[in-house]
Amino acid sequence: MDISRRDLLKGTALAAGGGLVSALGFDLRPAYAQSRELKISNAREFKTVCPYCAVGCGTIAYVHGSGGLNTVNSVIHVEGDPDSPINGGTLCPKGAAQMQLAVNPRLEKGPKYRAPGSSEWEDVDWDWAMDWFARKFKDSRDETFVARDEQGRTVNRCEGIGWVGSATVTNEDAYLITKTMRTMGLVYIDHQARI
Ligand code: SF4
Repeated sequence: MDISRRDLLKGTALAAGGGLVSALGFDLRPAYAQSRELKISNAREFKTVCPYCAVGCGTIAYVHGSGGLNTVNSVIHVEGDPDSPINGGTLCPKGAAQMQLAVNPRLEKGPKYRAPGSSEWEDVDWDWAMDWFARKFKDSRDETFVARDEQGRTVNRCEGIGWVGSATVTNEDAYLITKTMRTMGLVYIDHQARI
C-alpha cells in the first residue's frame, strides 16, 4: 500500500475523532476500547459537574485508590457523562482538561499576598490570610454600609464590596457564599460560571 504522509495524518485524525476505521484499512475500535478499559480498570467512578461554565456538563471522574485514610487517591481520567441530558457524554476542550484542577503540580497550594506598591507575591499562611481578609472586609463594610436610601427607606446594603465566585467553586459552595454575602448586605455578587 502506498501511503503518503497526508494519508497517515488523515487516518490518525479520523481515528482520534471517532471515525475509528482508519484510512489505512485497520479497524481501530477494539484497540481504543481496550486502551480505555485498561486506563480505568479498578478505578472508582464519581459523577460530577464541570465547574467551568454555566452549561454545567455532566462529567465522570475516575479515581484510583481505595479511599482509606492512608491511601493515595488520584484522579486518573475524566470524561463526559453519557447519561447527562446536558451534554450527552461530550465535553468542550476546556472541560475535557478539568482533571488538571485536581492533579496539576503547578496549582498553588496556599495563599499569596502582594503588598501595596510591591511587584512580588509572597507566601503567607492561612491564619495570616484569613485575619487580613476579615479585617479588610469589616473595615470596608463599616465604611460603605447604607442603612437607608435617600428617600429614608430601609435598604441595609453594603455598596463597597463585590464578590465574584471562582470557576472552581462548587454549586454547594456558591450557594453558601451567596447566602453569607447577602447576609452581610452585599448586592454586587456574581460567579465566573455565569460571566
Ligand atoms: S466548560 Fe465546556 S465542558 Fe465545562 S460546562 Fe462549559 S461547555 Fe461544558
